[in-house]
Amino acid sequence: MSSAPHASCLMPHALVILLNLYLKPTRDAPIRRGHPWIFSGAIERCEGDDQSVDVADVFDSKKNWLARGLYNPKSQLRVRLLTWKKETIDQSFFAARLSHALAFRSEQLGAANNGYRLVNGEGDFLPGLIVDRYGDYCVCQFYTAGMESFKAEIVAALSALVPMKGIFERSEGRVREEEGLAASLGVLTGDAPPETIAIEENRQKFLVDLRRGQKTGFFLDQRDSRQFLSTLTRGKSVLNCFAYTGGFSVYAYAGGAREVVTFDSSLPALELAEKNLELNGYADAAGEVIKGDAFAYLKETDSKFDVIVLDPPSLAHRRGDMDAATGGYKYLNLHALKLLNPGGLLLTFSCSQHLPRELFQKVVFGAAVDAGRKVTIVKQLGHPIDHPVSLHHPEGEYLKGLALRVID
Ligand code: SAH
Repeated sequence: MSSAPHASCLMPHALVILLNLYLKPTRDAPIRRGHPWIFSGAIERCEGDDQSVDVADVFDSKKNWLARGLYNPKSQLRVRLLTWKKETIDQSFFAARLSHALAFRSEQLGAANNGYRLVNGEGDFLPGLIVDRYGDYCVCQFYTAGMESFKAEIVAALSALVPMKGIFERSEGRVREEEGLAASLGVLTGDAPPETIAIEENRQKFLVDLRRGQKTGFFLDQRDSRQFLSTLTRGKSVLNCFAYTGGFSVYAYAGGAREVVTFDSSLPALELAEKNLELNGYADAAGEVIKGDAFAYLKETDSKFDVIVLDPPSLAHRRGDMDAATGGYKYLNLHALKLLNPGGLLLTFSCSQHLPRELFQKVVFGAAVDAGRKVTIVKQLGHPIDHPVSLHHPEGEYLKGLALRVID
């Protein structure tokens, strides 16, 4: 099933014309400390063509060279820095960064996991780029115009590093719109991916739809928490709320759950969830797969559970959504806590980048008080090793979780 790469891509980067940007006085401090973002308001003046997407050198107000990055005149987030060394941004630059990223995944995840995030944007010092690997295929997301302009070099470097059947692109979403970019989807090189690809994660098997599934097809970021869940479920009744394709459900059964309710609002996700349960030998295991609105279900159901997983989609896409979002998280956690049997466990998550961990914990605390339950934190949950967060860019931490135990 070989097909030609889709239109927009794979022209090598044109001759790089360096643009020089001079920062306003005092605005250099975060850059010196390694923060990768420069907003338009920090820039005093430009030398060169400031109307085009390009590589830019950044200087302080006294003309001292600071760093090199990718410039987009259409975005308020004007520059995303790639390096604090005077190195050329070309295919070998990307090859080195990709190889560094891959080495750690290969060492740490080994053969037991052939689905993982190979590049996590700022966390791998490649802002604007996501690469997820699913067996013999990769899915790339180019979020910024700067990264997009190096698509050919990145795809060439990736193909040379990890020989694959195909590389697929799913560049879409709000960040691209803010960069002035339309969605771009299709084969970048090699074969088109089949309808679903089977991956293995900690000995569990999952079918992934790279083309139409949410994110790039699978929530790779919950691998560690799914594994942790399997240590808690022996003989328990489990509700997997916001289940997507049943990841937590498969692990709950693998850990010996007595019964599992798999709940989501998406029919295609639940169809794959059923296949995933079957693939792992749980087609006839006790439990149900239910399609519906989790907000309504949690409030209305008469069922009680020993373990609940609450993994909603991001409820705050922008900073301005925070009030509604905290209200939503409180509602979900309040009703989930009420449904737990004494001694029950709640694994609760927020993947909203704008909601800091401390605030999330406060919201869950408020929910526990209103639910009239006494609760302990058993474990803090978060990013697995293939979703690293740059210490210089703490904003990159989006996934926060709490494993809670209800005392009475
Ligand atoms: N826990 C999953 C990932 C969950 S992503 C995993 O490990 O793979 C969030 C899920 O919430 C998506 O599958 C989405 O379809 C679902 N969803 C969004 N709004 C919902 C609602 N109101 N009720 C139920 N499910 C919802």
